[in-house]
Amino acid sequence: MPKKFKVNLNPKWCKSCGICVEFCPKRVFEFSKDGKVRVVREGDCIGCKNCELRCPDYAVEVWEEEA
Ligand code: SF4
Ligand code: SF4
Repeated sequence: MPKKFKVNLNPKWCKSCGICVEFCPKRVFEFSKDGKVRVVREGDCIGCKNCELRCPDYAVEVWEEEA
């Protein structure tokens, strides 16, 4: 079974700067119509933690889902 990951974006801390949208290799994040960044393809996450490491506001958390 391939590993599965949870991607949590804290909307209270996120300022929708777009860094995670830019750096996620799997395009897990997207700008929604209201200009806010959302998790749209959590199932595609490979757990590289680029988003977690690069988010300037510590608004993203990624962890491996228990099987
Ligand atoms: S990098 Fe962080 S603050 Fe910027 S859009 Fe992503 S979650 Fe929000
Ligand atoms: S851990 Fe990697 S693949 Fe998963 S959402 Fe973050 S940047 Fe994208």
